[in-house]
Amino acid sequence: MKKVVVIGGGIVGLSSALYLKRSGFDVTVIDKGDFSDNCSYGNAGYVCPSHFVPLATPGIVQQGLKWMWNSRSPFYVEPRLSWSLFEWGWRFMRVASPEHVANSAVPLRDIALISQRAYESWHKEIPLDMAYMHKGLLELFQTDEKEAYAENLVKKSKVLGLDAQLLTKEQILQLEPGIEMDVRGGVFFGCDAHLYPPKMMRSLLQHLTDIGVSFIPNAEVIGFKKEHALIKDVRTTKGNVEANEVILAAGAWSGELSKQLGLKLPMVGGRGYSITIEDYPQMMNYPAILMESRVAITPMDENKMRFGGTMEITRTNRPPRMKRVEGIIRGVQRFFPKFEIPMPKPEEVWYGFRPCSADGLPYIGRTAACKNLVVATGHAMIGLSLGAGTGQLVAEIIQGEPTSMDLSSFSPDRYA
Ligand SMILES: Cc1cc2nc3c(=O)[nH]c(=O)nc-3n(C[C@H](O)[C@H](O)[C@H](O)COP(=O)(O)OP(=O)(O)OC[C@H]3O[C@@H](n4cnc5c(N)ncnc54)[C@H](O)[C@@H]3O)c2cc1C
Repeated sequence: MKKVVVIGGGIVGLSSALYLKRSGFDVTVIDKGDFSDNCSYGNAGYVCPSHFVPLATPGIVQQGLKWMWNSRSPFYVEPRLSWSLFEWGWRFMRVASPEHVANSAVPLRDIALISQRAYESWHKEIPLDMAYMHKGLLELFQTDEKEAYAENLVKKSKVLGLDAQLLTKEQILQLEPGIEMDVRGGVFFGCDAHLYPPKMMRSLLQHLTDIGVSFIPNAEVIGFKKEHALIKDVRTTKGNVEANEVILAAGAWSGELSKQLGLKLPMVGGRGYSITIEDYPQMMNYPAILMESRVAITPMDENKMRFGGTMEITRTNRPPRMKRVEGIIRGVQRFFPKFEIPMPKPEEVWYGFRPCSADGLPYIGRTAACKNLVVATGHAMIGLSLGAGTGQLVAEIIQGEPTSMDLSSFSPDRYA
């Protein structure tokens, strides 16, 4: 039986393991952690075809530069002398154009719909315990500028065949009776779903164990034994693991690791934080994105509210910056003045590093530099949403089948 080694036990790695095992491969997942936490656990849980606009958009660089001087703002780049950061930033600025946004919409919609169907099958057919709900998502705004953006977003969504509707404040209050809010209006995306990430990840791990996937925890991949553009062994801190095929799904660490294979995957880690409160007194009915604050709120798993946000381009060994967490709380209270969120202690705050590619699109596919490698990373803000579908596509690639969508926009060789 062909041996496939998956590097990384986040949603992308585990989903790849699921589809590869189902296709008859001998699958081993290696992680430098113990599989109990990574970026795939503390996120907002959105499974959201509405997110067809990539991170690299016109105006984001100027906005980011303004925000850089505000310690509580939603975006921050830690100034440092780093060639990888410089290269990523330069490419990001160059690509952030209206054409890039237009060209990315269809591939992002397609992979999101494949992924949403996959999650629905996990929820109904396996079935995984994941508190999955397909009830929609609100994007709320307060200003003229964001209202104009929202109108445009609704038009574009309709062109893409996605269910989106512009709502007045009164209509929003009907959806969220009893919640006091300061909003001008919003968009309702009926196409979106959400789930409770820790429940889904634990349930998926259990299912993978039951079907015979092997796991090597606390083993960091530190190199590869390569012969003639083929990986023979994956070298880890716990010894070498033989592989016929390798999946690189190491999240924000994938860019650095890929250099050892002669690949060029410009990437940075974009740190975000979240606070989860059980039995929240003001449970909302719908997940909501607060557009001006750039904060995501999700009512999850019946009794939990999760508040998350911030994009902090920083080193992965930096301690949490509590001002950013304060920024999230203030961002919530700007829209919901009655919401009380106690400031967590530094050791209590959850954070994770989003794997951000240089153009906001994932890297999925084979590469010329290494014939038995499939790259599956770089999903940035939407890695959970696209995770299940990415796993399905990875298995199709490994089997040499025609893929369920055209993957050319996601080629890992686009910067080679
Ligand atoms: C606050 C916040 C909110 C978010 N909300 C959403 C949302 O609502 N919807 C959405 O779609 N996305 C959301 N995201 C983004 C999403 O969480 C990520 O895109 C996604 O989790 C990335 O998954 P991954 O499997 O690629 O990486 P990860 O989950 O980070 O997993 C990578 C794994 O690789 C392992 N690894 C790394 N290097 C090595 C090595 N050398 N050897 C062995 N193992 C290694 C790591 O230990 C880790 O376990 C959010 C992110 C944040 C921070």
